[in-house]
Amino acid sequence: MPPNETRSGANAAIGMTRNQMIAHIRAADVVARDSVVHGHHPFGAVLVGPDNVILMRQGNINTVRHAETELARRAADAYPPEFLWTCTLVSTGESCAMCAGTIYWANIGRFVYGYEEAKLLALTGDDPENPTMHLAARTVLGSGQKKIEVHGPFPELEDELLAPHRDFWKPRSRA
Ligand SMILES: [Zn+2]
Repeated sequence: MPPNETRSGANAAIGMTRNQMIAHIRAADVVARDSVVHGHHPFGAVLVGPDNVILMRQGNINTVRHAETELARRAADAYPPEFLWTCTLVSTGESCAMCAGTIYWANIGRFVYGYEEAKLLALTGDDPENPTMHLAARTVLGSGQKKIEVHGPFPELEDELLAPHRDFWKPRSRA
């Protein structure tokens, strides 16, 4: 499947071009890099409204408060589900099962991510701070009863998005 193809089909979310997705992924990357400066893991996400304007930004907080989960919960507190169905959550990396599940329950209509989980796993290894789950976000979101659009990965962004991860993780196998 081409990286920009939608598996789930059309929904209520307003169209977003590939270039717009890339710009939003880069905005999420700024948040991810800022998270490290503040002592957190290098993950970031943004919520984009139907007019393609960024409504919220969120970096990683801790092991159970990932950027996307935290952002989806804040979004669900701030906006009605009908509006969130027209919104997009954009993340630097492919979301874990917890985050994809929260995006689903928050009723956010589209999910865009930069690099795939397997690329992160190759860097985090068995680091106890990030025992990455090897489970595709499309598998989680595709198991629900509503068709949330999924776009990603964007291989042309992989190098710049994974840069903050390269020296961050210390797998025991490499220690
Ligand atoms: Zn997560």
